[in-house]
Amino acid sequence: MAAQSSALGPAARTGALADLAATSVPDRGVEPLDVLVVGGGIVGAGAALDAVSRGLTVGLLEQRDLASGTSSRSSKLVHGGLRYLEMFDFGLVREALEERGLLLTRLAPHLVRPVPFLYPLHRTIERPYVGAGLALYDALAMAGKYEMGVPRHRHLFRKQVARIAPDLRTDRLTGAVRYYDCQVDDARLVVTIARTAAHHGALVATRTRVTGFLREGPRVVGVRATDLESGSELEVRARVVINATGVWTDDVERLLGGPPSLDVEASKGIHLVVPRDRIRSECGFIFRTEKSVLFVIPWGRHWIIGTTDTAWDLDLAHPAASRADIDYLLGHVNKLLTVPLDHEDVQGVYAGLRPLLAGKAGRGVGSGGEGEVATTKVSREHTVVSPVPGLVLIAGGKLTTYRVMARDAIDLAVKYWSGVAPSHTERVPLIGADGFLTRTNQRVWLSRRSGLDVASIDHLLGRYGGLVDDLLELIASRPDLAEPLPGAEDYLSAEVVYAVSHEAARHLDDVLARRTRISIETFDRGTVAVTAAADLMAAELGWDRARRDDEVDHYLRRVEAERQSQEKATDQEADEARVSAPDIV
Ligand SMILES: Cc1cc2nc3c(=O)[nH]c(=O)nc-3n(C[C@H](O)[C@H](O)[C@H](O)COP(=O)(O)OP(=O)(O)OC[C@H]3O[C@@H](n4cnc5c(N)ncnc54)[C@H](O)[C@@H]3O)c2cc1C
Repeated sequence: MAAQSSALGPAARTGALADLAATSVPDRGVEPLDVLVVGGGIVGAGAALDAVSRGLTVGLLEQRDLASGTSSRSSKLVHGGLRYLEMFDFGLVREALEERGLLLTRLAPHLVRPVPFLYPLHRTIERPYVGAGLALYDALAMAGKYEMGVPRHRHLFRKQVARIAPDLRTDRLTGAVRYYDCQVDDARLVVTIARTAAHHGALVATRTRVTGFLREGPRVVGVRATDLESGSELEVRARVVINATGVWTDDVERLLGGPPSLDVEASKGIHLVVPRDRIRSECGFIFRTEKSVLFVIPWGRHWIIGTTDTAWDLDLAHPAASRADIDYLLGHVNKLLTVPLDHEDVQGVYAGLRPLLAGKAGRGVGSGGEGEVATTKVSREHTVVSPVPGLVLIAGGKLTTYRVMARDAIDLAVKYWSGVAPSHTERVPLIGADGFLTRTNQRVWLSRRSGLDVASIDHLLGRYGGLVDDLLELIASRPDLAEPLPGAEDYLSAEVVYAVSHEAARHLDDVLARRTRISIETFDRGTVAVTAAADLMAAELGWDRARRDDEVDHYLRRVEAERQSQEKATDQEADEARVSAPDIV
């Protein structure tokens, strides 16, 4: 497959759909794809990149927007997972820390950045235990194949903690240990991986739902799908289909007609976003609750506070946070703070669903061979299964280890094929990594040349890396796009246009909730910025006035439904309130 542009604009989608459909038209001489990935979250995007970079022909179908499932609703940490240390799962922690170093220093230095955390100590006796744990955490990171990329942990006494975090209740502490992890805008990571896959030749189509499988005997030879924008049906043929649909894994497998082989359960986690000035601290915090650990994470001019962990069996596409969820987080974080947070401090709330492996695959289903059930029990965190020939399921895991999951899925998919190159994604930087450092060194010059202030250049570098050139060219040709987006001045108008022309955004929700984070970073939740964003998108996508108004109306109804759901006492009521506002497609 020839290298192509990484721009995922409307024309690229139309072209991808035509090329995908051509695989099933007899007499066109178009071969089936090698690999068709279903699901445009972090795992699906990662699998597409892994496969295409081995030289395979690849398609990727996503039923809504890229990262619209769990992969835009995480805590946004690229981390080893301290809780696994307590479970003595050192292999898992080491693997995740290795991925952290790789992403930070090589694959996505423009998107991944170090974050300092305080681990508050309430009793003197905790210090040796926590200190040993964090020393081990650092040691595991240093033992990995890649640079650690972050400073080592450091012990702090109470006075030092008070200087670093004046709003932390230090009267209850004996001190703290400061350590580092990393963070990333999860949705941006997914879009960047999908664009990198497209750059290497993968065909990517969003708003295209897989509705069935094509079979030849027991073998899966492709899928049936619906283009939700036009309503048209298509068939796509492929040697192997990868089901990377997170909490939808069982639903998609059920399209085969039998019982699901994995049993993926959804566990809801919610987060609150509050303005940065509500908590004075140079570091984030991690602290224990009776059930798990909570994080308070610096996020630009905000804090992200999360998360909860409760079973969820309601709507998978729109998990809803209830008043009880919000009260739970506020109640716990307030125990740490000198000035408690209130509901009025909450700018944004979001809920996501962890795809947890509950069942059979976790116990192993046999070693398999071509034509029989094959299971690879890869780790406690994720599992790869081939329930029938031509179909591979990959589920579980976490954002941080997406690359390992993707590699394992494609390894199983091509296990009996000859001549396929091994995975080498550890040497495939994501688009925007190239040139990031150089452009960062040139930030003052870029500012002078473009007329943007240096803070705006820094903002663009942290979101687009070396692709900042694309944005600056756009602004040079349309200087009005240098203006901040009215109602969400942290972002430039150019970013909305670029989201449509290069980042596969097709609706307001895509731009306000995922390409930017305006929907959780403003008290009005994007209902002010929606007008300017709609005008910019309408011009790019050719919406007429009625269509533009309909898009705005859908967005406003979504925000209102979310607000309503967050006033409800129970999950059931919150779910009913949230699903009252349907998606636009
Ligand atoms: C609250 C919370 C906090 C987390 N925090 C972290 C963290 O800080 N760090 C970390 O490393 N991990 C974290 N995780 C875990 C991580 O976010 C998930 O493991 C990961 O995002 C799952 O990605 P996925 O691709 O498997 O699923 P998803 O992102 O849900 O992607 C699946 C996709 O499949 C699509 N799909 C479904 N059915 C179809 C169909 N029929 N046709 C086409 N497409 C379909 C969906 O629309 C969806 O986009 C967190 C998870 C949660 C819930």
